[in-house]
Amino acid sequence: MSGKEGDLALKLHALRLSFLDKFPARIAEARKALASLEAEADGKGAESLHSLLHSMKGTSDSLGFVELGDLARETEALVDRATAAQGPNSAALRKVLAGRIDALAAAAAAAREQDARPGPELEEVDGSPAFPDELPLVYLCDDDAIMAAVIASQISYFGYKVETFTNTADLLESARATRPRAIIMDIVFPEGANEGSVSLQKMRDQGIDIPAVFISARSDFEARLGAVRAGGSAFFTKPLDPMRLVATLDELTRLREPEPFRILIVDDEPVAAEYHRAILTAAGMSVRTTADPEEALETVREFRPDLVLLDMYMPKCSGHDLAALIRQVPDFLSVPIIFLSAETDKAKQLSAMRVGADGFLTKPIAREELVVSVALRAERMRMLRSLMTQDSLTGLFNHTTTTQMLKTNLDGAQRGNLSLCFAMIDIDNFKKVNDTYGHPVGDQVLIAISRALRQRLRTSDIVGRYGGEEFAVILPDTSRESARLIIDMLREDFTRVEFRAEERVFHCSFSCGIATSLDYPTFQSLREAADRTLYQAKAAGRNLVLVAAPDREPREKADGR
Ligand code: GH3
Ligand code: MG
Ligand code: MG
Repeated sequence: MSGKEGDLALKLHALRLSFLDKFPARIAEARKALASLEAEADGKGAESLHSLLHSMKGTSDSLGFVELGDLARETEALVDRATAAQGPNSAALRKVLAGRIDALAAAAAAAREQDARPGPELEEVDGSPAFPDELPLVYLCDDDAIMAAVIASQISYFGYKVETFTNTADLLESARATRPRAIIMDIVFPEGANEGSVSLQKMRDQGIDIPAVFISARSDFEARLGAVRAGGSAFFTKPLDPMRLVATLDELTRLREPEPFRILIVDDEPVAAEYHRAILTAAGMSVRTTADPEEALETVREFRPDLVLLDMYMPKCSGHDLAALIRQVPDFLSVPIIFLSAETDKAKQLSAMRVGADGFLTKPIAREELVVSVALRAERMRMLRSLMTQDSLTGLFNHTTTTQMLKTNLDGAQRGNLSLCFAMIDIDNFKKVNDTYGHPVGDQVLIAISRALRQRLRTSDIVGRYGGEEFAVILPDTSRESARLIIDMLREDFTRVEFRAEERVFHCSFSCGIATSLDYPTFQSLREAADRTLYQAKAAGRNLVLVAAPDREPREKADGR
């Protein structure tokens, strides 16, 4: 975990504590407002009680105190309903409200006790960073420090490094020194009702051009117009839906550069191979060349090209034969093959195509023609491959591909005698999310967890959607303890992610079972151990990460009897 991320966690922790510390004073105010209900009939007491509860609700939600937020929400609704129905000044109602306020005080005290405990260790694991160290940097400027810290923490759960500023002058100065990938900007500041867009405009005038997202309690035409003119890419009104903000940031910072196309060139003429390689490399593709057909087959297996460019006439084995050879391997059935040859005889070209080639280009070929022909077919290959290997909702690897990758990586771990960890993750009480908020909101939760897993884990870790609300993570070369710490940090952060469904805020959690290849060396045993451990975590109350331990499991019978 980077220092900044740790700082942020500490800052948020401090904010939560300070909110809870001030809670008794608010409770006292609420009791006073309740008492004044008896004395007056003008509704002033009800009004101030209402506004107290309202702000309790908002801040509790923001800081992740779900129970407190819900209690405040219910009590606020009670005040509303009572005011409308019979007037707040009834003894029975006052008694109910007093009970509610007591419950709030008790819940806050309990939360205070919980929060005072030290949080999970924010340490590096095994000396190697658990998370990618090059997190994209985002600046956030809002004069409301609590708001800024809360939004920053929400975004950081999805793999962003966020620095917060409470005035635009500081922001400007930092942006001059270090350019962030994006800026999140409030509009109204004490300096002016349009300070946010004005200062961003200033920044652009100085040649500092950074994608910006506006967040504001204002949503009037003038505010929006100012934001557009200042070059804002998006405009969100508060209260924010963090998930939508993160989705926009992902787009603006385009976290994942598309991988270059992988092209394999097989040509017995080294100069020709080098020449075509130079053209394609200049166009941003990753190219391998070989003159040996036997080596070519091996390279297809290992390099997994998006396209193979084949010469027709080679001494050992013709391009025609090699294409046929490639097509005989079921895994390579769909790899596009293009002949690149000096052969101009149409009949011979056609016969070469019969083995399942996708095109015929004749040498010499114009640069652009080569690039375009190759890129178009490689692109289509990518698309087909992603349809076959990825889950359409989350973009993660699907079940089949994840299983395949587990097998391959397990072989690698076995050869190197390394610890590979396999983690099975399942969202807790997910059915309830669907039942309460609807299926589309449930889908948002699935997308959120996918995003968090993909962006927070190393690129060498493999994340798949194993089933409906079940995910699998393969962590190659990772000890049990590292894996547990990494996933547990993710678990902790995930419980803090705010989901919004219309007016309501809710949180989710997941349970996880981890097993290592050192204890469970076969594919079957590893998968079953992770699965079994996941269900132990569920049985133990959910929101928990457990590691499978062979010595805790019932021993198998020593012999057949
Ligand atoms: P537990 O804590 O024991 O895991 O309880 P649970 O409710 O999460 O588990 P259960 O297996 O009973 O329910 C899983 C639910 O996930 C049922 C199914 O409707 C829902 N689900 C599966 N796939 C999707 C999906 O793609 N989108 C949405 N929104 N829901 C899905
Ligand atoms: Mg579940
Ligand atoms: Mg389930």
